[in-house]
Amino acid sequence: MTEHAAPAGRREVLNFINGRYERSSEGKTFAGVSPATGAPIAVIHEAGRADVDAAVQAARAALKGPWGKMPVAERMALLHKVADGIQKRFDEFVEAECLDTGKPRETCRHVDIPRGAANFRIFADLFKNVPTEAFVMDTPTGGQALNYATRSPRGVIAVVCPWNLPLMLMTWKVGPALAAGNTVVVKPSEETPLTASLLGEVMNEAGIPPGVYNVVNGFGPDSAGAFLTEHQGVNGITFTGETRTGEVIMRAAAKGLRPVSFELGGKNPALIFADANLDEAIPDIIRATFINCGQVCLGTERIYVERPLFDEFVARMKAATEKQKVGPPDEPGVTMGPLISLEHREKVLSYYKLAVEEGATVVIGGGVPQMPAELANGAWVEPTIWTGLPHEARVNREEIFGPCCHIAPFDTEEEAVRLANDTAYGLTAVVYTRDLARAHRVANQMEVGICWVNSWFLRDLRTPFGGAKHSGIGREGGIHSLEFYTELRNICIRY
Ligand code: NAD
Repeated sequence: MTEHAAPAGRREVLNFINGRYERSSEGKTFAGVSPATGAPIAVIHEAGRADVDAAVQAARAALKGPWGKMPVAERMALLHKVADGIQKRFDEFVEAECLDTGKPRETCRHVDIPRGAANFRIFADLFKNVPTEAFVMDTPTGGQALNYATRSPRGVIAVVCPWNLPLMLMTWKVGPALAAGNTVVVKPSEETPLTASLLGEVMNEAGIPPGVYNVVNGFGPDSAGAFLTEHQGVNGITFTGETRTGEVIMRAAAKGLRPVSFELGGKNPALIFADANLDEAIPDIIRATFINCGQVCLGTERIYVERPLFDEFVARMKAATEKQKVGPPDEPGVTMGPLISLEHREKVLSYYKLAVEEGATVVIGGGVPQMPAELANGAWVEPTIWTGLPHEARVNREEIFGPCCHIAPFDTEEEAVRLANDTAYGLTAVVYTRDLARAHRVANQMEVGICWVNSWFLRDLRTPFGGAKHSGIGREGGIHSLEFYTELRNICIRY
């Protein structure tokens, strides 16, 4: 790859280091591609080892500079200004996210970008009001001692992000990290670097000191991701992405014993009991399966329905899926964009093929939709539903991360719980029932980080968020984010 300026109509995406936009010091660039059309949309500057080192050094220096010395109230006010800045440039963020991901503009407007701003406000407001613990103790020699705990920022945080909800998931980590007084070096996904880059301008406009927020672009192995997570100037690594990548990053983190916070993959179940209100359940499960073209870690790929309701549930899911409209961000009525890339489509289509080989009945979908000529090179797939697979089928066990689900019947509550939990993952579960006692009983048996009852993706940002088993390490959200982004210190004063 050689250095070149962006051709007309394409954005040039630079690294953001110490408050300035910087070209790749090695002159390396790569192309950003529209998932909707396959056309090149950006020239992205890849950060080499030296660029990553410059970003980490800038972040280290900022800890000791004005940011580190800033009164808490002032720091939090600046984070509100960052949120204001996102709101002010709302349309630019929407445009950038639509371009990078191909998702419907309405989704960007109502979900991704508002959450980007909210992630700064919530943690700025929350952290300044969190109390600390204090214990008075009797000492062995008479007299007493007061113990109290204080929190310090952990230091430089590496933030490694996926492509499915770029601004939303990146700020979900940057918001609390900065609110707790840390500095960050962000490695956005190579597929979706635009909004992280744009946020640099907002940081400068808000008056965030240079070096507090840095962005390095590139890939994972032997590129910016690996250089950043291996860097010994990084004090903690927060990562959202695939479970396998988490294993690699954990090995990098072992050197220097740096703590990690991981939000990883899922193969999430939904349990629909015979007393469920289907008028509510169907739209929720349709969203949980197809929103963002099924590329949501919290989404549902395995649905278990109590046998008396099974046929009706499948028929109504099919009817609702027929109403899904696949298309580009601005087409009226579109509910589903493309997958993120042709490469990811290969993976999803390989599961569509495998499902048939494993014996599935295809209820709907299973292929590639007919698209107009100008969209022919986009990463389109049909929303897909299967039935009839054995529980052990790979399609029922592996995360596909596409707009598809398998629906199976169950006969007893015990069986439903067993099927739901029989997976390596443990991110979310959904339970639909009108029986309150069962709701509590079943929810408490789900081996997951988040269980929704009679709802999906109802998010209160003050609550713990994360996964059990192979779906993550640690929890973020609310005060739980403080656990990762700060170091607790106990002070014991004898008097
Ligand atoms: P991915 O693991 O391929 O990539 C994520 C990030 O890690 C990218 O920025 C990538 O460049 C970087 N990376 C890859 N290899 C690396 C390495 N060796 N060292 C350092 N960095 C490396 O994930 P993805 O395909 O971008 O995202 C989809 C996955 O993310 C799915 O598995 C999904 O379930 C998961 N996800 C989880 C959550 C959650 O909250 N639990 C949220 C969103 C997505």
